[in-house]
Amino acid sequence: MNNPFPFSFNEKRYHTFNYYLKTRYHQKVAKVILDGGFTCPNRDGSKGSGGCIFCSEKGSGDSNLAAKEDVMTQYLRNREVMIRKWPDTLFIPYFQSFTNTYGPLEKIRSLVDPFVRLDEAVEIAISTRCDCLEDETIAYLDSVAAQKPLWLELGLQTSNDRVGEILNRQYSFSDLVSALEKLKDTHIKVCIHVMNGLPFETKEDMLKTVKDIAHLPFDGIKIHMLHIIRNTTLAKMNEIEAYELISRDDYIDLVVRQLEELRPEVIVQRLTGDPIREDLIAPQWLLKKVTILNDIDKRMRELDTWQGKNYEQ
Ligand code: SF4
Repeated sequence: MNNPFPFSFNEKRYHTFNYYLKTRYHQKVAKVILDGGFTCPNRDGSKGSGGCIFCSEKGSGDSNLAAKEDVMTQYLRNREVMIRKWPDTLFIPYFQSFTNTYGPLEKIRSLVDPFVRLDEAVEIAISTRCDCLEDETIAYLDSVAAQKPLWLELGLQTSNDRVGEILNRQYSFSDLVSALEKLKDTHIKVCIHVMNGLPFETKEDMLKTVKDIAHLPFDGIKIHMLHIIRNTTLAKMNEIEAYELISRDDYIDLVVRQLEELRPEVIVQRLTGDPIREDLIAPQWLLKKVTILNDIDKRMRELDTWQGKNYEQ
């Protein structure tokens, strides 16, 4: 059976980040995770306290970064490890932990500017909240993005504001829509995070989130499976009332249906979470990430489907 999906050089039937990077740079490109020392308005009391129920004290990062070092030291240390394994690698510095545009512009500028000047850093990625984008911050990031590709990663998790309240997210779906409106005429690339398996959501609700964003202006998506990790509010909720997570098979089925709703051009940066084994309470099947990705490919081939199959212009 021929693969009808245009943005693929192998059996993938969705637009992988790997395809995007390989066709652009023709060599390995790796993300280097950085902690810029930010906090989050949902933790320091300005919007909320305690954070989103699934977020750990690492600020939704899934790496074990060493205690605070300046970001260039973090970058150089991590890149050295990668270069030993993969010489000739190019890099994407990725400000991952907490809300990386929540702070004075001067701080953001001092962290990002050195990577704009660094040739081997071919793109930059910044994770943040849709309600933490001041006009002057967008203008600065746009000026960076005019020089090298810059991804702004915006958490959404769900378009359902009722569930957003249960998550203690402290922003609404309309906040995301407003942010996308402000960003759409800039050079900035936007990657939206959605999360499957949230409490009180059915598979149809999770599919609806992707349908709700499908026609909005954005460039990439990360689809996560909720994981319950130690020392989070969600872990405590789960102790009280064992919370039923969707099964691995349902997850694969759901992701395939979500991919069918997306524009084929949208770059899929992630299709599962990547939890740290020692921190993970459930679901344990998430630890076998490669087999999940393989089974998503297999399911798409069996159904002869592809990203965007149900997308209507
Ligand atoms: S917005 Fe992000 S960093 Fe802040 S509490 Fe929620 S998941 Fe954590």
